[in-house]
Amino acid sequence: MSDEDQRFETRAIHAGQEPDEETGALMTPIYANSTYVQDAPGDHRGYEYSRTGNPTRTDLEDNLASLEGGEFGRCFSSGMGAINTVMNLLESGDHVVAGNDVYGGTHRIFTQVYEEYDLEFDFVDTTDHAAVRDAMRDSTELVWVETPTNPLMNVNDIDALAAVAHEHDALCAVDNTFATPYLQRPLEHGADVVCHSLTKYLGGHSDLVAGALVTDDEDLDERLAFYQNSVGATPGPFDCFLVLRGTKSLGVRMDRHCENAQHLAEWLDAHDRVEHVFYPGLESHPDHELAAEQMDDFGGMLSFELDASLEEASEFVGETEVFTLAESLGGVESLIEQPAAMTHAAIPKEEREAAGLTDPLIRASIGIEHVDDLEADLQQAMDAVF
Ligand SMILES: *Cc1c(COP(=O)(O)O)cnc(C)c1O
Repeated sequence: MSDEDQRFETRAIHAGQEPDEETGALMTPIYANSTYVQDAPGDHRGYEYSRTGNPTRTDLEDNLASLEGGEFGRCFSSGMGAINTVMNLLESGDHVVAGNDVYGGTHRIFTQVYEEYDLEFDFVDTTDHAAVRDAMRDSTELVWVETPTNPLMNVNDIDALAAVAHEHDALCAVDNTFATPYLQRPLEHGADVVCHSLTKYLGGHSDLVAGALVTDDEDLDERLAFYQNSVGATPGPFDCFLVLRGTKSLGVRMDRHCENAQHLAEWLDAHDRVEHVFYPGLESHPDHELAAEQMDDFGGMLSFELDASLEEASEFVGETEVFTLAESLGGVESLIEQPAAMTHAAIPKEEREAAGLTDPLIRASIGIEHVDDLEADLQQAMDAVF
């Protein structure tokens, strides 16, 4: 059976990895090397220097490429390192269309780093395809898409947005961090490059920072490899090993993340202290049908608006005991945070409110603990505040 015929869960464990020929070691070793012996000048066995290539990293890159259904994977020292490498493809004067609710770090690198290099950006509501089309210019080289988005869980139509990008000969990049390839494979929907923060679900245990890009296009991959090596934001072999360990259990973890999140979304939706729940798995979610088509399940992230003041909501997230008050997401443990006071506090209040990021909005990364303990924890935190 060729690798490509195997199902996701099998490839998650085996793709890119063969037992070591010499020792039989089952797991990919941590190749802690900066350099490699050459048999004669220029005559090496595939590796010269670990910024350019490292065998532990190669196994991870091949594994991730397989999971995204792509040909080529490239790993970076962080999700931002991966995003930066996509930006390296552009030149001054180029224009980028991005979602108006992209990850904060993505907004920051676009506006505070690349605008300084004379790149131009338009941030639009990417659920509004006419608005995206209107924003396209002759100089548009990239359409940047996230789905589902953070923290309001809007779902973007990758097929439609990739089509708009391609009408203008622009690339379509999709940040697939929230969904993971277990739930959504953007290359199947026309994206040119998929971006990941491996820090989140793919690593899955809140113990590393890393990023990745996957593409099907050999020329594009060669350019990405050039910038990966030239800029040098590459991950060390220990972090690559940890992500390889994480991807093996991605399927079972995601199943539980989704099951717990769906249960809690429905429970919160029926709760009288909760004004609104943002979760694409709820039928009341405006993009529920699109999510059901584009994704295999609805993910482990949800947000909800308490019937409360900023202070009461802050108190609430301080009272949880199983949910940890922390930024980040995608680990086995449940995390909770208040965007208006934490991840999105840098956005001026008026802009925040206009974007739907109200003071009592709570974002949760639903972990894989027992769902009854998670539900009881949210209830005891409500009892403590109200
Ligand atoms: C965390 C995150 C990033 C940035 O990744 P790092 O690994 O923290 O550099 C990019 N996009 C999304 C959607 C994220 O959640």
